[in-house]
Amino acid sequence: MRIEILNTGTELLLGNTLNTHGAWFGRELFKLGLRVGRQVTVPDGDAIRESLSEAVGRADVVIVTGGLGPTSDDLTREITAEVLGLELILDEAGLRSLEAFFAARGRPMVEANRKQAMSPVGADILPNPNGTAPGVYVPPRLNGRGNCAVFLLPGPPRELYPMFHAEVVPRLRALSGIDVPPLALELKFTGIGESDFHDGIDDQLAAMAGLEYGYCARIGEVDLRLIGDAETIARGRELAVGAFSRQLVSDDGSSLEQVVLRNLEARGWKLAVAESCTGGLICSRLTDVAGASAVLTHGFVTYANEAKVEMLGVSEKSLAEHGAVSETVAREMAEGALRVSGAQVAVAVTGIAGPGGGSEEKPVGTAWIGLAMEGVETIAVKIYQPRNRKDFKLAVSQAALDLVRRSVG
Ligand code: AMP
Ligand code: MG
Repeated sequence: MRIEILNTGTELLLGNTLNTHGAWFGRELFKLGLRVGRQVTVPDGDAIRESLSEAVGRADVVIVTGGLGPTSDDLTREITAEVLGLELILDEAGLRSLEAFFAARGRPMVEANRKQAMSPVGADILPNPNGTAPGVYVPPRLNGRGNCAVFLLPGPPRELYPMFHAEVVPRLRALSGIDVPPLALELKFTGIGESDFHDGIDDQLAAMAGLEYGYCARIGEVDLRLIGDAETIARGRELAVGAFSRQLVSDDGSSLEQVVLRNLEARGWKLAVAESCTGGLICSRLTDVAGASAVLTHGFVTYANEAKVEMLGVSEKSLAEHGAVSETVAREMAEGALRVSGAQVAVAVTGIAGPGGGSEEKPVGTAWIGLAMEGVETIAVKIYQPRNRKDFKLAVSQAALDLVRRSVG
């Protein structure tokens, strides 16, 4: 079943409002075993005519969002009726529900709202308990333009989402006849790139009958998506995990920070973090996770050398001899954080975000990560991530959390 999404709204194209509907429909429809075949965004007003006309000629289902309001640029109903060759009539039940909406709020209903009760003849009016704009469903065969079902839905998410679940999902299930949607599994890996998959297991995944797979690379992370039946997914999982077991972060959608906290909590260990170049990002990521307080004790943001000395006991001699971005200082930061906090594990980062401050020996993008653990020798690793400041911070935080994950096990 070919589904097309048509989002209307000038604000979406001016960049004022992020078009979140595209991603949202993709996720919701996938749960029903359906895919978006095409998504188009057009400004308010007349522009919808051409896109809708094309879409109904091509698709089995077209879902239109936005433009159901009372103002003059809200033309979705009018143009849909025109494109489908259907007369637009006043729906008495729709009008009564609009009147009830205003009456319940003690507000007068103005004349402009009446047009929101108009719908193409024979269409279903979809109630909107959260706003004034009712939705519209034009079943296939009703329209003069082939066999395409058309949904008109309101733009605001708080009106759209409930209407989709209550009114659209049952109709899509009936139209598609899909009872058991395919399963999907997302495996998260760190410390490897897409090319490692390509060289490692890509051919074998491609040869698995009935398996659909794909990669999504982010900074310091690659997700492998497996789609198919349970048995096929299990085989794909076994292959990927077998090849990259140390790099596997999770197979249940958990983030790296969630996994780190979970592993530490399982051991009853506490974590302290000392950050220079990431400016608190590692702590911020950890504290995004509910229950972080069971594990995280301290976050030291020691940006200046003096702060590293005062708060973590880094030696002035080490700073002078090796510089703030060095193996020695990363170790001393981690050991200082461990000592001051009383945690069992401490991770520290120090690096050169740039754009200035780099040298031949320590180019912009260099960072050292130190890891101190009770009863174990402190380790330090160097990474090189020449990126813009924001991406550099994210890459360093990713590497630091991953070092904790690997060290804690
Ligand atoms: P509407 O009046 O139905 O066209 O929608 C009005 C409001 O809904 C807009 O001001 C946006 O805040 C929101 N909205 C509409 N379309 C989208 C979209 N595609 N993604 C996110 N928000 C949207
Ligand atoms: Mg709009």
